[in-house]
Amino acid sequence: MAAADVKVNAEVRDLTRIERIGAHSHIRGLGLDDALEARAVSQGMVGQAKARKAAGVILQMIKEGKIAGRAMLLAGQPGTGKTAIAMGMAKALGEETPFAMMTGSEIFSLEMSKTEALTQAFRKAIGVRIKEETEIIEGEVVEVEIDRPEGGNAAKTGRLTLKTTEMETIYDLGQKMIESLTKEKVTAGDVITIDKASGRITRLGRSFSRSRDYDAMGPATKFVQCPEGELQKRKEVVHVVTLHEIDVINSRTQGFLALFSGDTGEIRSEVREQIDAKVAEWREEGKAEIVPGVLFIDEVHMLDIECFSFLNRALENDMAPILVTATNRGITRIRGTQYRSPHGVPIDLLDRLLIISTEPYSEKEIRLILDIRCEEEDVEMTEDAKELLTKIGHETSLRYSIQLITASHIVCQRRKGTEVDVEDISKVYSMFVDVKRSTQFLIEYQDQYMY
Ligand code: ATP
Repeated sequence: MAAADVKVNAEVRDLTRIERIGAHSHIRGLGLDDALEARAVSQGMVGQAKARKAAGVILQMIKEGKIAGRAMLLAGQPGTGKTAIAMGMAKALGEETPFAMMTGSEIFSLEMSKTEALTQAFRKAIGVRIKEETEIIEGEVVEVEIDRPEGGNAAKTGRLTLKTTEMETIYDLGQKMIESLTKEKVTAGDVITIDKASGRITRLGRSFSRSRDYDAMGPATKFVQCPEGELQKRKEVVHVVTLHEIDVINSRTQGFLALFSGDTGEIRSEVREQIDAKVAEWREEGKAEIVPGVLFIDEVHMLDIECFSFLNRALENDMAPILVTATNRGITRIRGTQYRSPHGVPIDLLDRLLIISTEPYSEKEIRLILDIRCEEEDVEMTEDAKELLTKIGHETSLRYSIQLITASHIVCQRRKGTEVDVEDISKVYSMFVDVKRSTQFLIEYQDQYMY
């Protein structure tokens, strides 16, 4: 591959961006005010004011571009919101800033070397903002019907309905508009690729099976009356892709599909070198800018000494993203050595980390988090049940009590109830033991288990 052939594609952004649902779906930001003070309850965040504020200060540094080589460590007991804070940072940064997340133990996969896994993680957290001048539809795309051919190719085919800002009208994207925007005539069987965000048509090709696409294109071949020129304008469009996405697209014949499946394998160093050279060229020509993002490594104590030395080196790079790490360990052995160290992290790396500690929640805070989770999971719960669940959370763990919300909801539905009540909570409390009770059980019955 020659450097001149380096491919980028704006569409991969929405395909590879991880939908963050599940345990942290209620987190919508850090919930800070303009002075970076934590609001008591805001954007799904409760309490942990000091840590949230500290994370906000780091965010500010990211936004001001003062972040190369910066790294932080969220240290605290299990279930004190370390991951929640990292998620809050990601949400507050917005869609454009890359956010990559991994767990320390993932490094030890058999599919690739540790350094390759870390390199990929770093490059997932480095964005390239690419500027292009192109003709786009002036208007907001309000609906895209996508017919994705088998094999999962990313091309979006089918009907596009858009609302123009000028005319406040809903149009079907028709033959005439496609022609005026692409200067090409569309015939049945052609495939158009549409950038959902900007409404920009990026490709017109015939790469897929004709019969299926014929159906998909049906509505698009309809002639639509729309005065030419009125719906189009020359505009500079900007999109952000990550270095990792560029790597994958250029290293695989099926680059796009590899991104879909996550099966990216090892990437040859020559490919990366050529991409870096091309990106440097674009930067010089003013066509591209680097957008340093955030790499979050949870359970950082699971990394070993080789990984830590890689991190130390990688943070020296001027394109380095901000590294956010988290651990719930105290003084522990550094993997791959005989030495013990705070958080299992070598002193030289610790020294460059801004350490933020998280604290256990009060009963009141647990109650507020449970309220938010009930709402997020659409679970109606009586006041008494919430009180009981709060007590359970306080005595066992926040995470355990959050898990009981879903379980008790199912039990409630089985008895055809509409509101989770104390009896449902009690039932699931005896059905699923928390760590303390499980440990107690093991101590009492240990002779009956295998060694
Ligand atoms: P571990 O050390 O075990 O990885 P953690 O410190 O990363 O734990 P989280 O996973 O962030 O803890 O927290 C447990 C659950 O509680 C998650 O569902 C999280 O979203 C929620 N949570 C934690 N802290 C807060 C908070 N301050 N506000 C709202 N929700 C929170």
